[in-house]
Amino acid sequence: MQYVSTRGDQCLGTFSDVLLSGLAPDGGLAMPAQIPTFSATELERLRPLPYAELAYEVMRPFITDIPEADLRKLLRATYRPEVFGSEEITPLTPLGDSGPALLELSNGPSLAFKDMAMQFLGHAFEYVLDRRGERVNILGATSGDTGSAAEYAMLGKERVNVFMLSPQGRMSTFQQAQMFSLNEPNIFNIAVEGVFDDCQDLVKAVNADAEFKARHDIGAVNSINWARVLAQAVYYFKGYFALGLPPGAEADFCVPSGNFGNVFAGYLAQQMGLPIGQLVVASNENDVLHDFFSGGVYQVRSAERVAVTSSPSMDIGKASNFERYLYLISGGDATQTLGWWDEVGAGRPVSLGGTPHWDAVQASGFRSGRSTHADRLATIRQVDGQFGRLIDPHTADGVLVGEEFRRPGVPMVCLETALPAKFGETVREAVGRDPERPERFQGIEQAERFCEVISNDVEQLKRLIADHLNPNS
Ligand SMILES: *Cc1c(COP(=O)(O)O)cnc(C)c1O
Repeated sequence: MQYVSTRGDQCLGTFSDVLLSGLAPDGGLAMPAQIPTFSATELERLRPLPYAELAYEVMRPFITDIPEADLRKLLRATYRPEVFGSEEITPLTPLGDSGPALLELSNGPSLAFKDMAMQFLGHAFEYVLDRRGERVNILGATSGDTGSAAEYAMLGKERVNVFMLSPQGRMSTFQQAQMFSLNEPNIFNIAVEGVFDDCQDLVKAVNADAEFKARHDIGAVNSINWARVLAQAVYYFKGYFALGLPPGAEADFCVPSGNFGNVFAGYLAQQMGLPIGQLVVASNENDVLHDFFSGGVYQVRSAERVAVTSSPSMDIGKASNFERYLYLISGGDATQTLGWWDEVGAGRPVSLGGTPHWDAVQASGFRSGRSTHADRLATIRQVDGQFGRLIDPHTADGVLVGEEFRRPGVPMVCLETALPAKFGETVREAVGRDPERPERFQGIEQAERFCEVISNDVEQLKRLIADHLNPNS
């Protein structure tokens, strides 16, 4: 399988090539040249497979440059019960007889769904770098969940260092403790005196220095990484099969969304032939995606217009994976996609209303809704009261919006994107008690912290990276 850019037809190489590179040279995102599909009979063959074997079947058509036995081995090493807490890896838990079903994606090392893909990235990076005799220094920015998922995935990986920037004092207490308690030779936590967008700008500034980037093998694991999207498609299959529906019957999925990575993976699964009826995008107060799916206009928001909310991992004004979706909607037309993204880049709205592209969007099964802080609290309280189950604020956004689109006789699967323990303060505000937390995180706030503080200054950041890579220079 070859990959192409969403903005031009030039070939970007195979899976291993796009695994290690960020944006395409033309600024676009990597997409497979075709999307292979499963027939109904093939889907029936996949139904009983354990998670790692299912992952192999779903991902294999897109990864043709890793020998079969090696790919199986690395997926078995990734999706183990010891890492994800159960044989099923992503258990499906119905909420009573009347509620939706929760697809549990957050039982991995960092307690958020990002582990599902990031753990695979850890193993895949190690494998590809080993074969090529290369190293990578991952530079990233996090507002919370990405950082810890990346760090836990790269623990002990010899060819990988992680430099993770976070806005000083702005993550939840638990999120800070989760990252900063790591004392590992290849993990470097860097707290920046600034906000999340400052961190992201620093990452961009370092990447803009081509010479520094090449000299220090700077790489990324951000949300536009194709391998993350692909790995996420697997649990839609797993969740669908766990419903036990007759062959061909539809199920709907509801997904708390920010960068559009998770729900895009659902669209990919649907394009591969999984009978997904509706894909419901749940936004919080930062409702850029809801505006698009309800009105046909995509208008990104600048950092200062992004609200700080109690589902912070969805506080995003520019959904980085959305370009992949519009590329597919255009029928894989890179010229059209480039035209749209020139507008987006200039801060202008892209309006599809009344065009054939809008018909394609409506036919794609996407629905959307938004929720507020008050909705979130009420939903957490209601699900706790009615079903005896605590959910986190992001999952609550999903459950609330999913309810709007329930169809009689069609199951609604809500993706659980984090455990409530990660967002104790909001959960306590909703139900008046603290969520349980896994044994390994008891008292983590008291653990010693390993983190360097820098000012919002790219030269200081570059010095710090260079010093850590060459400790004797
Ligand atoms: C990252 C994240 C999201 C948003 O996922 P996208 O792929 O960016 O749409 C939602 N909930 C939680 C808990 C997250 O960490």
